[in-house]
Amino acid sequence: MSQLPERARIREVGPRDGFQNEPEVVPTAEKVRLIEMLGATGLSRIEVTSFVRPDVIPQLADAAEVLAAVSLPDSVSVSVLVPNERGLERAVALREHFHEINGFLSASETHNAKNVGRSVAESLDGLSRTFVRARSEGLRCEGVISTSFGCPYEGHVPVERVLDVACGLVDAGAVEVGFGDTTGMANPVQVRSFFEAARSRLPGVELTAHFHNTRGQGLANVLAALEAGVESFESSFGELGGCPVPAGATGNIATEDLVSMLHEMGIFTGIDLGALIAASRAAQGVLGRPLGSHVLLAGPVDWRSS
Ligand code: ZN
Repeated sequence: MSQLPERARIREVGPRDGFQNEPEVVPTAEKVRLIEMLGATGLSRIEVTSFVRPDVIPQLADAAEVLAAVSLPDSVSVSVLVPNERGLERAVALREHFHEINGFLSASETHNAKNVGRSVAESLDGLSRTFVRARSEGLRCEGVISTSFGCPYEGHVPVERVLDVACGLVDAGAVEVGFGDTTGMANPVQVRSFFEAARSRLPGVELTAHFHNTRGQGLANVLAALEAGVESFESSFGELGGCPVPAGATGNIATEDLVSMLHEMGIFTGIDLGALIAASRAAQGVLGRPLGSHVLLAGPVDWRSS
């Protein structure tokens, strides 16, 4: 087995990826309280909301209110997801409240057309303009590529195709590229060879793995990515976040499951697992239903220390 990294970075995406997939709209004050609990866990990156069209995603219509209200430690890099230039302009009105933007598109034409109604090339053009504008505001840019490991409509997506899109994002100014396993189609063997190829095509670019646990392979894929040299991950507390295809499927890997595994393997994250579990428990209280993470149910491995 190859050498594992000594430390890993985690971006918590639950406040965006999770809350947007809840059938109910989470009250703004509860979102702010939960985000601040996350900020107190030692997480260094939190995606707090998304500036998407409120009529399309009413769950995040309070993006500006949430961003203005949250109070987070200076050590937390705050990011917002922006779909396009219009979303960025809404975000930039609150420029002093965040540090990074995340722009997204899909690697497969069918998924991109269904998701944002554009071709992949049109999305890349739009993101290029968005990143230029964001960089002029001193914002760090991350591009996330959905369906990087397979598309629910097209099936297999060639690695070279995904990496061509990634190179387009880097040319546009992204310093970090996230690869999303949108509907949980990735397996560990595929993940390892994917990231080996990505590292040689994209030297110097931060490569981030965004796995979904749709088919229970999320953490196995994390280990494969670690073995391929990936040190950056995105996950969601409480395993919040669904996924529209297939209906009812689970979404993101749970941050507490990820942190627990990394810590048990001796990989430093800087995150207090007990505080993270408390945040997920609080989210259960707000949502009024049990959440899906394993560690939330079972507790930490070293239960005496929590
Ligand atoms: Zn996700």
